[in-house]
Amino acid sequence: MIDYSSFTKLSYGLYIIASEYNGQKAGYAGNTGFQVTAQPETIAVSCNKDNYTTEFIQKSRKFSLSVLQKDLDVAIVGDFGFKSGRDIDKFKHYDYKTGELGIPIVTESCVAAFECKVVNEVDCGTHILFIGEVVSAEKLSDNEALTYNYYHEHYKMRSPKNAPTYIPPEKLGENKEEKGDVETKEKLETTGAPVSDYVCIICGYTYDPEVGEPSMGIPPGTPFEDLPEDFLCPICSASKEYFREV
Ligand code: FE
Repeated sequence: MIDYSSFTKLSYGLYIIASEYNGQKAGYAGNTGFQVTAQPETIAVSCNKDNYTTEFIQKSRKFSLSVLQKDLDVAIVGDFGFKSGRDIDKFKHYDYKTGELGIPIVTESCVAAFECKVVNEVDCGTHILFIGEVVSAEKLSDNEALTYNYYHEHYKMRSPKNAPTYIPPEKLGENKEEKGDVETKEKLETTGAPVSDYVCIICGYTYDPEVGEPSMGIPPGTPFEDLPEDFLCPICSASKEYFREV
């Protein structure tokens, strides 16, 4: 038997993985990056075959891996993790530099960065595991690195469906309606007013009226209905119509 909740106990960081081919850049946010060997220094990343970046790595045989810091503007995770380079230029709004291999290395909100040339790749079905030899490595700051757990709990975000670690909610035995009912009931009891959380169906971000969204100037105690009509999900920029009451 497989208890899917056990997978949520695996720990990771969160990274921006990038590449370039034929003068075009591609990058995405992912959690499956890790050091494989010390001598030579190698790092592996597991990339979904549907990711735009994956074909860039396959063709160029190069990738960079930047380690995100704990305190960040989550928009960078939204842009790199929940949008496709087929639709937007992800590098337009974030600081990056060009590395020794001529590929982009994202530096914004990152504490360290590595540049690798692919020495091996393993077809894992939905994903390709690229193993890269490190050709350059740089510590960018002494800030604390972001962990995947902190990202889920503090920023209240889910894994995108393309992540190797994605677990469908039903496999975790989550019954959203029941959970929502309980939470709403608790809030009714404490505040005396019906307040509901709203979840973004694109990225899983939850708008909690009790908390508001201080990063966007929305004060605590603002019901979802009172958000401006041009409100956008702070993670993936989805408009209000993509939110569902829970
Ligand atoms: Fe969203």
